[in-house]
Amino acid sequence: MALTGIQIFKLLPKTNCKECGVPTCLAFAMNLASSKAELDSCPYVSDEARAQLAEASAPPIRPVVIGKGVRKVTVGGETVLYRHEKTFFNPTAFAGLLASDTSAADTEAKLKVWNAIQYERVGLNLRPELVALKDVNGDKAAFATLAKQVAETSEFNLVLMTEDADVMAAAVEACGFKRPLLYAATAANADAMGKLAKDNGLPLAVKADSIDGVIALTDKLTAMGLKDLVIDSGARELKPALTDLVGMRRSALKDGNRAVGFPTIVFPCEMASNLDMEGLIASMFVAKYGSIVVLSDLATEVVFPLLLERLNIFTDPQRPMTVTEGIFEIGNPGENSPVLVTTNFALTYFIVSGEIEASRVPAWLLVKDSEGLSVLTAWAAGKFGGDDVGAFVKKSGIADKVKTREIIIPGYAAAIAGDVEEELSGWTVTVGPREAAHIAGFLKARQ
Ligand code: SF4
Repeated sequence: MALTGIQIFKLLPKTNCKECGVPTCLAFAMNLASSKAELDSCPYVSDEARAQLAEASAPPIRPVVIGKGVRKVTVGGETVLYRHEKTFFNPTAFAGLLASDTSAADTEAKLKVWNAIQYERVGLNLRPELVALKDVNGDKAAFATLAKQVAETSEFNLVLMTEDADVMAAAVEACGFKRPLLYAATAANADAMGKLAKDNGLPLAVKADSIDGVIALTDKLTAMGLKDLVIDSGARELKPALTDLVGMRRSALKDGNRAVGFPTIVFPCEMASNLDMEGLIASMFVAKYGSIVVLSDLATEVVFPLLLERLNIFTDPQRPMTVTEGIFEIGNPGENSPVLVTTNFALTYFIVSGEIEASRVPAWLLVKDSEGLSVLTAWAAGKFGGDDVGAFVKKSGIADKVKTREIIIPGYAAAIAGDVEEELSGWTVTVGPREAAHIAGFLKARQ
């Protein structure tokens, strides 16, 4: 059970040294109790107090790492009910279902198709991360062989799905090095599955047919020493499944109920009769509160919108998405290609670069750090002033790449033209369109 602010305060040094960033130890204790501070911010906590406080300051939903390598994912670790309260931290992981009687050749073909579902957005690689390998016939050799194939020949990490502990043990031997999630411990097999997960240091999902059943299982497995648990409440209809997820999140966050303070796994593949409907259901669980979403297949038309939704939901609403300051080449520009400048708000960058690309006029796009603000906001906030933009163009090194000495500034920042010209002696400043949609026409008209 989480400690109160006063209980935490009693364990702190009480020197009010302010090194943690707040004026008093009491204020720090209150922040720690409400998950607004990290214990590591106080350098003076004794080891003994740290051990007691670590539990109290742990996120109410435990973060659980699944997989190894570049595609390993952390699920859970959330601290708020609503994204706007702070942020959601660990994006929902998407899994494609693979039956254990699939042939090696079909598996290879499927993995190739699934692996191609990748998109670059705002400097991030968006893609599904998991294969949920489901035992369909109790053939442990086939299950283990396929688990090995997925683990060794793809970047996907694994959810191993069987309630037979012997079958699971064979697969763990074959692919345990990739830290698969074991699904699932039930009331009937919890001892064997718990031992297997503990002996191999692997995360374990629990499956029950009610929240009470979940609590009985997580209590039992926690008492066995297991910490990395994932919850399936067993609901396979939309409303009960959503009710369970919301109830567990609320109970973990508001009541400090550690028995349900774990990430969740949900199965749209068992709730719909076609992939489109699965996608719709999955989109609901991305928002509330599915940590791992299992689909019967991974198809571009379903996964792409889910990836974009996930990107939006799991972006910190208090911190604008940015791109790195610098020079971006669009369409292989040369020394006489136009040079444009804009801000580093990710949406601005992608819209502007997309319009330049659409114009088919090769160009240089200079992106100035504006702390993630769009052009008009950055200008109004003094983050895209004429002196700054001029100085940035100078230090960017673009003058070494082009013969032209003309810089095109956004129409919304027309007021800075004079100051830019003053700062950039020898350069001409041209005011571009206000709306990005007019950039293509603007560039083409200059050809
Ligand atoms: Fe108290 Fe530690 Fe913060 Fe100093 S750093 S005020 S000792 S909580």
